[in-house]
Amino acid sequence: MGFSTDAIHAGQEPDPTTGAVTVPIYQTSTYVQEGIGRNKGFEYARTQNPTRMALERNVAILEKGSAGFAFASGMASITTVMLMLKAGDHIIVTDNVYGGTYRVFSQVFTKLGLDYTFVDTSNLENTRRSLKPNTRVVYIETPTNPMLALTDLRSTANFCKEHELLMVVDNTFMSPYFQNPLQLGADIVLHSTTKYLNGHSDGVGGVAVVNRKDLAERLGFLQNAAGGILSPFDSWLVLRGIKTLALRMQKHNENAMKIAEYLTHEPKVSKVFYPGLSSHPHHELARKQATGFGGMISFDVGGLDNAKKVVESVRIFSFAESLGGVESLIGHPVTMTHASVPIEKRNEMGLTDGIIRLSVGVEDVEDLVNDLKQALSRI
Ligand SMILES: *Cc1c(COP(=O)(O)O)cnc(C)c1O
Repeated sequence: MGFSTDAIHAGQEPDPTTGAVTVPIYQTSTYVQEGIGRNKGFEYARTQNPTRMALERNVAILEKGSAGFAFASGMASITTVMLMLKAGDHIIVTDNVYGGTYRVFSQVFTKLGLDYTFVDTSNLENTRRSLKPNTRVVYIETPTNPMLALTDLRSTANFCKEHELLMVVDNTFMSPYFQNPLQLGADIVLHSTTKYLNGHSDGVGGVAVVNRKDLAERLGFLQNAAGGILSPFDSWLVLRGIKTLALRMQKHNENAMKIAEYLTHEPKVSKVFYPGLSSHPHHELARKQATGFGGMISFDVGGLDNAKKVVESVRIFSFAESLGGVESLIGHPVTMTHASVPIEKRNEMGLTDGIIRLSVGVEDVEDLVNDLKQALSRI
């Protein structure tokens, strides 16, 4: 089936009891059993919930995997994947990963004996050089936030196969509509469903998808053992959001492309970071491994004062953290999402005080461009 058909139907047969076309919200903690050892496959709702399972089947199909697992947040999905490891294991990580990922790796799992090396994985040589005898996982985010650097998934996957490493990819920024890392050789794909999958800025959640039976068994065990599951209502919200994922992603991409082009011609902007621009250093790679460029743009207005003027003058863009919703958001990474990243690290990745990040929504693009124009004119 095509992506849109799967997005709307996969994992969601009409309800057998009533014929309801949408999956009911099974708001229950337990299930009546017929007798000892006899039940309908449902015993306790941390382990099985039909609404959550519908979402898990749906996302597994969209990511071309065999099994999906839904969690209470993107961070809960990342945490549960890390529980697959043991003290002494080493993980190579994209250096400019999501701030919360950096925080849980460097401040929580390090204490439990996991060893992380953060490198610029957009150059495979860096990944290769970081390999240790105890390396078990390569953890990739592509494109990164907010610099929008890309990592070559296929060649990284080949490297991982060669050294028997598990390759984990956080695919939140692209969504399964534009990029399917499992097809390029990754072992586990993660999403914060809070962003594009849910798409309406009204729920927090996460998923992990795999295409190997042993990994599915291990993650299923850990999901139940650690218990960071997504609630039935939030599962239902994500299922509903995904029905329009294809339409939304097309519009995010189209709007972002037009805004990126406008920004490159705007004299107040010194630099635009968007993989869809042919000037982007990883533009060719973006075309090769994804079918679109997404809705995230960063641009430099030359300093903190200028950035302050812009984010405080917009009228349609909302000044807020997060991304991936239908409404356009504007953020200032240095003081918001990346405030906990040490200044040397920010300098290393080129994240300066003047950088502004946009999550381009699905409004009328002329209105968005005009809003940015009037805000930039305050500089
Ligand atoms: C938001 C985000 C996360 C964390 O997800 P939550 O749902 O906020 O826990 C992880 N990775 C990326 C790329 C994100 O944007």
